[in-house]
Amino acid sequence: MSSYNYIIKYIIVGDSGVGKSCLLLQFTDKQFYSGRELTIGVEFGTKFITVDDKQVKLQIWDTAGQESFRSITQSYYRGAAGALLVYDISRRESFEHIPTWLADVRKHANPHTTIMLIGNKSDLDSRKRQVTTEEAKRFAEENDIPLFMETSAKSAENVDEAFVKTAEKVYEKIRAGIFAG
Ligand code: GDP
Ligand code: MG
Repeated sequence: MSSYNYIIKYIIVGDSGVGKSCLLLQFTDKQFYSGRELTIGVEFGTKFITVDDKQVKLQIWDTAGQESFRSITQSYYRGAAGALLVYDISRRESFEHIPTWLADVRKHANPHTTIMLIGNKSDLDSRKRQVTTEEAKRFAEENDIPLFMETSAKSAENVDEAFVKTAEKVYEKIRAGIFAG
């Protein structure tokens, strides 16, 4: 498919190892890599979805390992209509860094960028969990993040939903004239 009504840029941010590349791969290719690291950085993913009968081309940018050096450039954020802010529910530190990532997005992206907070690796045994659903939900509310979901790039739980829900919010803003599509 090559024709579409809207094109939407997404960015995925969060600490190294939280599963950003795996989320992208699961969404675009329905695949999961269990390797410790995707050495060949998936730098970019494209997927067509339908929102309100409109064809939407999602263009998803992955940090491709740059996050370990905190050298994510302004061009990465430029024009992003959606931002997925990802932490790993089994690694508390990655949740504690979310405010820093949020500040980065708010500083460099558009003020109308739709942000979704994502707690990834929900498939893991509950004994491994270090961040509760409730506190993440509360964090999202307190920080005006309109969307929150727990996902698993491994089992695919909520992966499509996360990308699609964000697109629906972006689309509302495009329709309202807040955002160019
Ligand atoms: P990135 O650095 O944020 O891009 O993280 P990766 O996508 O490279 O994933 C880091 C590690 O976490 C890899 O070993 C993945 O296999 C693993 N991983 C990613 N997502 C999940 C998930 O949902 N569940 C589990 N159990 N492991 C995951
Ligand atoms: Mg990666």
